[in-house]
Amino acid sequence: MIVFVVLIIAALATAAWLTVEPSLIRRRRRRLMGAPTPAQWHQWIATHVPLVKYLPPELLERVLALTRIFVNDKRFVGCNGLTVTDEMRVVIGFQASLLVVNRPGVPIDAFYDELESILVYPAAFLVEETQHLGHGLVTTGRRALSGQAWEARRMILSWDDIEHRPPASNVVLHEFAHYLDMENDSMDGAPVLQNALAYARWSQAFWEEYRRLHEDLQAGLPTLLDPYAATQPAEFFAVVTEVFFERPAPLLLEHPGVYNELKGYYRLDPAAWPGVAPLHPSTLTGLDPAN
Ligand SMILES: [Zn+2]
Repeated sequence: MIVFVVLIIAALATAAWLTVEPSLIRRRRRRLMGAPTPAQWHQWIATHVPLVKYLPPELLERVLALTRIFVNDKRFVGCNGLTVTDEMRVVIGFQASLLVVNRPGVPIDAFYDELESILVYPAAFLVEETQHLGHGLVTTGRRALSGQAWEARRMILSWDDIEHRPPASNVVLHEFAHYLDMENDSMDGAPVLQNALAYARWSQAFWEEYRRLHEDLQAGLPTLLDPYAATQPAEFFAVVTEVFFERPAPLLLEHPGVYNELKGYYRLDPAAWPGVAPLHPSTLTGLDPAN
């Protein structure tokens, strides 16, 4: 009898908590939206996220407001002896926030809600990999990765690869693009879009450019996109997301169809941000990496 009563009380308490929790989360997020940004954040972000200098002031304020929530809500776990610092939290959170800053419902009703923890390694980490080579041949081995987002609840990042990255690449934007791709339960290069027509437009623009990238690589031609983008559609989406923010003007020039789909999806137009110079084909070599 006592066990029965305890079970009833526990069930009622859980039900009450499930009812109240979403409103508490919303209230906390509203409060953090209005909180001030700590002064040292600006220096950390300027050091590690050079594209910040192009963000229009009003957009920057909103990304910072989301970053305050992200840093507060998400659990960061240091791995291989790394102690996660506030600087790391802010730099990761700021870039994750930029991707969804104009998304309807963010941050009060939705904000990377499936993501529970971010594991930060000091440097590239090794993963066990099994490759199926066909004809029953299977190889196993280890590969060093700078980031991994193979399930929505957990993301893995290497701080060294965030701190010392080539100018046009961005591992944080890359891995969070994978998270967004997974929101419809399949990591296939197409995130959640509004309707069937939007999916049709997206897949036409992406397949065309994905195929062209393959052709260019086979022909030995130089490409704006890292060849890793050609490994599978999900990687193509993650890599073009990096380039959309890191080198928007060249992406608009080289892959206008993909640029316009990303512009619609992220509801951002980085090529039009002040200071990002428009490009002409004759200037495509020797670019300022920030453009
Ligand atoms: Zn990837």
